[in-house]
Amino acid sequence: MIYMDHSATSPVDPAVFEAMKPYFVDEFGNASTLYSLGRDARKAMENGRAQVASLIGAKNEEIIFTAGGTESDNIAIKGTAYRLKDKGNHIITSAIEHPAVDETCKYLEKKGFEVTFLPVYQEGIVKVSDLEDAITDKTILITIMHANNEIGTIQPISEIGKIAREKGIYFHTDAVQTVGKIPVNVEELSVDMLSLSAHKLYGPKGIGALYVKKGVRLEPLIHGGGHEKGLRPGTENIAGIVGLGKACELAQKDLSEDAKYITDLRDKLIDGVLNSVKESYLNGHRTKRLPNNVNLRFTSIEGESLVLHLDSKGIAASTGSACSSKKLEPSHVLMAIGLEEVDAHGSLRLTLGKENTKEDIELAIKSIKEAVETLRKLSPLWCEVPDT
Ligand code: PLP
Repeated sequence: MIYMDHSATSPVDPAVFEAMKPYFVDEFGNASTLYSLGRDARKAMENGRAQVASLIGAKNEEIIFTAGGTESDNIAIKGTAYRLKDKGNHIITSAIEHPAVDETCKYLEKKGFEVTFLPVYQEGIVKVSDLEDAITDKTILITIMHANNEIGTIQPISEIGKIAREKGIYFHTDAVQTVGKIPVNVEELSVDMLSLSAHKLYGPKGIGALYVKKGVRLEPLIHGGGHEKGLRPGTENIAGIVGLGKACELAQKDLSEDAKYITDLRDKLIDGVLNSVKESYLNGHRTKRLPNNVNLRFTSIEGESLVLHLDSKGIAASTGSACSSKKLEPSHVLMAIGLEEVDAHGSLRLTLGKENTKEDIELAIKSIKEAVETLRKLSPLWCEVPDT
C-alpha cells in the first residue's frame, strides 16, 4: 500500500517503537512511587519531557503531557476561559480550526462566551488586520492554528503572537500539524500555549503535550492526584511519553532534510496532477503550506468515490480531515475558502511522509488521472470542454 494520509496519522517509527518496548513489561513502574522501578519511570518521563521541550524551544517545566492534540486544545482553551471569566468573555479564533478547537469554542459560546471566527479568504490565511480589529477589552484568548490539517496553510503566528503579547491577551496555537514538519519555536512564535500530538510525527497514538509558558495560569478541567502540575492528573503513560520523546528527538535531528525531501515530492505531485488532469485545481496557498500537504479539487467528481477508487489501486488518501471525512456535510475549511459545496465535495487530500518515494508520486499521478477520467465518464455533471 502507498500511504498518503500522514495528516490523519503516521506510522510509528521503528526506533520509536524500540524505545517504548521496555516500558510495557519490564520497566512498568509508576512514576510517583519511591522505589527504583518508579524512579526509573520518572527518569524516562523527564527525559521525554526534555526531548519535547528541546524540539520546540521550551523549558522542560513548561511541558504538560496529555492524551493528544484534542485534550491539549481543550485544556488550553477551556482552562483559559474558566480562569479568566471574570476578566472578559471574548475569544478569537479562525474559521478553519480543527474540531478540537472549533467545537470547544462553540461549546463555550453556549456557556456565555463570545467567539469571533476570523475569515481566511481564498488562500486560507487569516489577516492580521482582521485580528486587530476583532480585539476588544473583553478579549481573554486568541487561539489560531499554526497550520491547517486539510489545506495545509500556515498562519502568521509570530505576528499574531506579538500583537497578543502587546495587548496582554493569552495566545494559544494548535501546532499538531506543524511540530516535526516545520521549525516550531515557542519564543519565536510568541505563544503562551501550544498543542502537539505524537501520532502526527511518527509517534504513538494517545499521547501529546501542551506547552504552557511559565507564569500562565489555567483552570484544571479534571481533578485528581495533582500530576502534571494539576493540569492533567492521572498515572502517567510512560511508554507513550518515551515514544513521544523519541519521535521529537528524531524529528529535531532530521527536520530540515525531511522537509526538503517531502516538499520536493509535494511539488512534483501538485504539478503532475495539475498538468495532466483537466479542470483540476489546488486548494490553499501554493507556498505558505505544509511541506507534505496536497489538497486538490476536480470538477464533477465526488471526493469519496475518488478515495475509494485510489484505495482499490493501493493508495490511501482522504477527502478532508479524518475526523470529518465520514460526514456528508462539506468540509467547513473548504467552505471557508469560498468553494461551492459541489467543489468542496470534489476535493482530495494527499499528505506525504518520509517513507514516500518519487515512484509513489508517479504512481499516484497516474492513478489519480485514471480514476478522475473513469469517474467523469460516469458523471452526469461532467461535460468535457474540448481542447483548443
Ligand atoms: N488539531 C489538529 C490540527 C489536528 O490535525 C488533529 C488531528 O487530526 C488534532 C488537533 C487532534 O489530535 P489528536 O488526534 O491527537 O487528538
